[in-house]
Amino acid sequence: MIALRPADLVLIRALAQASYPVECCGILIGRREADRVTVTRIVPSANILANERPDRFEIDPRTRLEAMRQAEAEGLEMVGHYHSHPDHPAQPSATDLAAAWEPDLVWLIVAVTKDGPGAIAAFKADDAATRFDPVGMDTLPDDC
Ligand SMILES: [Zn+2]
Repeated sequence: MIALRPADLVLIRALAQASYPVECCGILIGRREADRVTVTRIVPSANILANERPDRFEIDPRTRLEAMRQAEAEGLEMVGHYHSHPDHPAQPSATDLAAAWEPDLVWLIVAVTKDGPGAIAAFKADDAATRFDPVGMDTLPDDC
């Protein structure tokens, strides 16, 4: 289960729409408790593959390093990341599976078309990164 604030979901959808038809991406900061992941902040990143491959994404390693440092200082951690699927469903692609080498991270995927953002869904790779399993989504109060 992953829990996010409605405002953060609105922001992720807005970012997906703004970068369309290029994939957007960013980092999910929060904490893990047993089977539940709570996202307390999202950190948008430049997609460093945007110019060469608009249908791929890679989080800027400097943004990631800085976000992880700041999270650690707050007793939080990187719990996952998000990216958009322009003109594709909110389902992990074969490329996503090939990049799923960190089994602890939740993958949040938002579908987007020229008409705007669509479905948003969460996944986690199994330990051997042979498949993605769906992760249930929950919403937090906006003020927590
Ligand atoms: Zn993808």
